[in-house]
Amino acid sequence: MSRPLPIHPDEAASRARGALLGLAVGDALGGPVEFMTAGEIRAKHGVLREMVGGGWLRLKPGQITDDTEMSLCVARAIIAARGWDLTGIAGQFASWLKTRPLDVGDTCRRGIRNFMLKGQLETPPNQWDAGNGALMRMVPVGLFTLGDDALLRRCAVEQAHITHNHALSDVACICYGRLLHRAIAASSKTRIRREVDSLSTDFPTFGFEPYRGLSTGYVVDTFQTVCHYFFRGRDFEECVAGAVNQGGDADTTGAIIGGLAGAYYGLESIPRRWLKRLDKRLVSELNELATRLVALSSLQAP
Ligand code: MN
Ligand code: MN
Repeated sequence: MSRPLPIHPDEAASRARGALLGLAVGDALGGPVEFMTAGEIRAKHGVLREMVGGGWLRLKPGQITDDTEMSLCVARAIIAARGWDLTGIAGQFASWLKTRPLDVGDTCRRGIRNFMLKGQLETPPNQWDAGNGALMRMVPVGLFTLGDDALLRRCAVEQAHITHNHALSDVACICYGRLLHRAIAASSKTRIRREVDSLSTDFPTFGFEPYRGLSTGYVVDTFQTVCHYFFRGRDFEECVAGAVNQGGDADTTGAIIGGLAGAYYGLESIPRRWLKRLDKRLVSELNELATRLVALSSLQAP
């Protein structure tokens, strides 16, 4: 049985838009410094707080990368099917890969190719699959499963296993979905924090205090970085800039914390100067997808 969260659907929809747009903004802010160290970022930018473009992918200011693009794939497939459609999601990934995207993680590419060649929807368990590639596309799953934790657990793991099949990736995806659910239900950070504490009780490796300062593509490092900067940050900009300036997989930590902080602080909290840098069609599609994902969720069920 799913129990609707005690929140008005309009407020949930506004926070949901904050989540999807926050994801894109974090991706675009971090893209130009992906794979730089915190020290290299400091030497080049001081504290990076603007959409500068550049980096190893030679991005335009405000340009998004695979983190937002794969999230769009998940969201579009759910909306097209008016419900959960794993084959549809894999199909969207395949169409996206055929467009020769600027950046694709190796694990993602392998999983998508196995779907294209063999129709495989679940990659076999693999000890090397503990990257953050499944976690970075969780925001649409969190929105679609609002009010239904059992559905969240199922959808998080199914979408993850298209490319990543590893216990640490699975539990990080589920926990992040729960953080989004809590944030959209306007829970306090203290309450949200309990979800992370319960994860690190079962999997102590996710403990993020003291913070080790690692922000690699390993899902544990990514998750710790997101938690560290989310729980200490005082507003959207501080959370996202904090994670991005840590460097490493900066666009991905930026995207993941941007989704969570956008849900928590709401759409209005995202700096306008950042939103203005995003492609206008992308902004309107993300707004539309967020609204429609919430409308499909149990929050709106009769
Ligand atoms: Mn990326
Ligand atoms: Mn990345």
